[in-house]
Amino acid sequence: LPVLAIVGRPNVGKSQLVNRILGRREAVVQDTPGVTRDRVSYKAEWNDKRFTLVDTGGWEPDAKGINASVAAQAEVAIDLADAVLFVVDVTVGITATDEHVVKMLRGTDRPVIVVANKSDDDRRDLDAYELWNLGLGEPHPVSALHGRGVADLLDLIVKTLPDTSAVAKQEVGGPRRVAILGRPNVGKSSLLNKAAGEERVVVNELSGTTRDPVDEQVELGGRVWRFVDTAGIRKRVHLQQGADFYASLRTTAALEKAEVAVVVLDVTEPISVQDLRIIDLVLESGRALVLAYNKWDLLDDDRRRYLEREIEQDLAHVAWAPRVNISARTGRHLEKLVPALETALDSWDTRIPTGKVNAFIAELVQEHPHPVRGGKQPRILFGTQASSQPPTFVLFTTGFLDPQYRRFITRRLREVWGFAGTPINVNMRVRE
Ligand code: GDP
Repeated sequence: LPVLAIVGRPNVGKSQLVNRILGRREAVVQDTPGVTRDRVSYKAEWNDKRFTLVDTGGWEPDAKGINASVAAQAEVAIDLADAVLFVVDVTVGITATDEHVVKMLRGTDRPVIVVANKSDDDRRDLDAYELWNLGLGEPHPVSALHGRGVADLLDLIVKTLPDTSAVAKQEVGGPRRVAILGRPNVGKSSLLNKAAGEERVVVNELSGTTRDPVDEQVELGGRVWRFVDTAGIRKRVHLQQGADFYASLRTTAALEKAEVAVVVLDVTEPISVQDLRIIDLVLESGRALVLAYNKWDLLDDDRRRYLEREIEQDLAHVAWAPRVNISARTGRHLEKLVPALETALDSWDTRIPTGKVNAFIAELVQEHPHPVRGGKQPRILFGTQASSQPPTFVLFTTGFLDPQYRRFITRRLREVWGFAGTPINVNMRVRE
């Protein structure tokens, strides 16, 4: 889906606008600085056109950290978005922080829509027109609070956004797109450097005005791969506060562009909540998954036993993901990454013909029928794989299947077809 990113200083009304765009009160309106929202991206729709809305303002810094964090917001937005919504508060006008963002936005080739928020009445519209001075095109007066001007804005947004994500479109048939993910210090940039075969310095200051190439093409195992959003890995954005928020934003951005994620884990440390959250983001995104256990050179026998137990306990839900034990420092087993990526992508691309799906269901039902509930036994009439990337199955049934039975079906699908490295979805359509 095309991506729209919202950027602006704290308190200009970004959350309010997000709510308006989504048409529901999902985003939280916050007046407390320093509050982090968990969600950073939402699925939005207007006039049958769907897009992903990324709210880069989910973390609002206190006065001290404003410039750095708003700049980080803008930078991430420019990297990942097909269009940027720049929100200004007309009742305040342009501040130094806004100027900073404007400088960055002028340098991008992405379309920028200037929103003059808090234009609650006609008088404010006049203030809004002063924003022509920003040099970012026509300002659009809106009152996110009252809904004024929002429909027009949405019309403009869907007109501005491309049909599919520009990133996804330009690369059909090109190199497969890989995201390297993981919490700080697990060795992402070491892995990238080793894979790319050089210690490259990417010059890209936070204040820079140009859009840098954020993806890198790397030849590995005889074919070219595209590592996406590597700017976020190579470059160290040092933020005192909000670092977790920007890390999630980066992860979301990278997943949006990627087909397969390599989640890097540090074997010298216990598997953490943050590791699990990153894996959850991959599952939510429906991308293929490879787990890279890094710093293997530092592993001793004691830690190794713990590690295996942790993996069994905490990572059982992704036991299907190919695993590579590597050392980004020594280069150990790095070559195993390629077959792991290939396996995961093959599974992600898999299409099972409908005939085979139904033969599978017939056999499964015969061997293990759905239990009778309240005198009724739901039947599966027909099944098909509706899509791939990731494989998504639809079962047409005469009643709701028990969650337990659905898990059983998922398990059997993996037993029969493997699907190593890809999440799979099993959906139901109940026909009365
Ligand atoms: P990133 O934040 O995930 O990009 O992590 P870095 O690549 O910057 O690595 C963090 C630290 O771990 C650095 O000091 C690296 O030299 C070190 N490191 C990364 N991979 C390995 C490895 O396989 N073995 C060892 N011993 N150290 C590593």
